[in-house]
Amino acid sequence: MEWDRAFIPTLRDDPADAEAVSHKLLVRAGLIRQLMAGVYSILPLGWRVCRKIEGIIRQEMDAIGGQEFRLPALHPAEIWQQSGRWDVMGDEMFRLRDRREGELCLGMTHEEIFATIATECRSYRALPQIWYQLQTKFRDEPRPKSGLLRVREFTMKDSYSLDVDRAGLDRAFQLHFDAYRRIYERCGLDPIAVEASSGSMGGSESIEFMVASDAGEDWIAFCGACGYAANVEKATSVLPELEDAAGPDAPEEFATPGVRSIEDLAGFEGGAPAERQIKTLVYMADDAPVLALLRGDHPLSEQKLADASGANALRPAADDEIRAALGASAGSLGAVGVDGLRVFADEALRGRTDMCTGANRDDAHLRGVSVERDIGVDTWCDLREVQEGEACPQCQSPLEVKKTIEIGHIFKLGTRYSEALGATVQTESGESVPIVMGSYGIGVGRVMASVVEQCHDEQGIVWPVNVAPYEVVVTVLNPKEVETSEAGRRIYEALQGRGIEVLLDERDERPGVKFKDAELVGIPYRITVGPRGLKDDKVEWTRRKAGTGREIPLERAAEIAAESVLEERR
Ligand SMILES: [Zn+2]
Repeated sequence: MEWDRAFIPTLRDDPADAEAVSHKLLVRAGLIRQLMAGVYSILPLGWRVCRKIEGIIRQEMDAIGGQEFRLPALHPAEIWQQSGRWDVMGDEMFRLRDRREGELCLGMTHEEIFATIATECRSYRALPQIWYQLQTKFRDEPRPKSGLLRVREFTMKDSYSLDVDRAGLDRAFQLHFDAYRRIYERCGLDPIAVEASSGSMGGSESIEFMVASDAGEDWIAFCGACGYAANVEKATSVLPELEDAAGPDAPEEFATPGVRSIEDLAGFEGGAPAERQIKTLVYMADDAPVLALLRGDHPLSEQKLADASGANALRPAADDEIRAALGASAGSLGAVGVDGLRVFADEALRGRTDMCTGANRDDAHLRGVSVERDIGVDTWCDLREVQEGEACPQCQSPLEVKKTIEIGHIFKLGTRYSEALGATVQTESGESVPIVMGSYGIGVGRVMASVVEQCHDEQGIVWPVNVAPYEVVVTVLNPKEVETSEAGRRIYEALQGRGIEVLLDERDERPGVKFKDAELVGIPYRITVGPRGLKDDKVEWTRRKAGTGREIPLERAAEIAAESVLEERR
């Protein structure tokens, strides 16, 4: 492609609202344009990158026996009602009506549709299957931002494994895990695989692939010593043991005028330090109030409470809801003697005695509380969000907590969708069993943005050869001079002949402009052809990543460039 014929609208300045590096650079380098919040047009350079990422994904999916489908984006409500997710997906799902008032939605994922097709597998002999597609998904993100990192319309590779039993699912899950590793490696990414919450997908186990980035919105806990890694929605840590006094035979109420918080009570004479307090939080789980109890100094992970309660929608209770549930205001809440509400208690409270907590009366607290004796706990579970520096659950070294971007998520779904949608097979012994499913996703645009997050410098993007929009740019410094122009064109044609993806920059621009554009766009290699070098039959050869060039003989330029590119293609 000749640069002056190509549509590469580079910009001098960052878009006004952009914070993430990938957002700034993808817009400035002319790869994407925003149409509205969270919805982007992919321009020709960006599309070349996306197609390469998609190509890598297809190759690796095909290599594990995947078969490509193409399912609709427009779904009838019934199929989502059948799985129970019509309500679960809430405001994130785009919903619409057709001319006959039929309820429809735009697909955010395709478990339901694939499970319906899977009803045509009748016997165990039809399994295993791995089905995938590359397709547009829609999610009505509450806060679309950061360019392609948080969008409302995006392309995703989603795949689904169908097996007759758990052992088959374990194999399919491992095949995907390994395929995902190869996909990322070929795209130039090195993600951390972390344990994650399955959220609204359900299922027993899930792993996210995360790359560290300041633009990320997911926090992971990571152990540099043993490699333990988990989303903070799921991560645990080991706490030092605490010694409690036995305390009195029953809790004692005491007056605490003006005490409204854990810190207030810690500083109050006759109170207790935070680690000897019970924090009582009221949440609305699908519109029913529930209590979450934690040690005073421990923050709640809302996702852990959502997972433990099985709630589809979870939010902190409003003041009037708290008062209706416990008869007191936040600041003096407690679970002692509470009846009729589900009580979830964090494991760190198990066995604790002589603790302080609110008395459900303003300006009054209780001391001498033995958690198991005095509180009717319905569910003991992990509710606490781990903090940087706490001990790793595997090796006790201090944990790091870092910000990351999720670039893939794989789930062991089990039989939730096959049961709901009637996808069963006959086993060898003639028994009818639901198909055991897994589901696996990679967002293509998010991979592209993550590569930019990881591969850039002050001047712009530094594409790895495998996903670069073009592999080489031939920059002709003085195109009006016939000899220089002809030399540039000869190299360009020779590279095309060798199957290299090459841009020829013969624009009528100053050399500085051409160099800046090539660096911003991030072409991995540049051959600079100018009259001065040509006097000695030399051209300049520059690797974008290194930033420095060297002279190479004109007649060997195409050969050297082609060899370098082919060596890096994977
Ligand atoms: Zn560790």
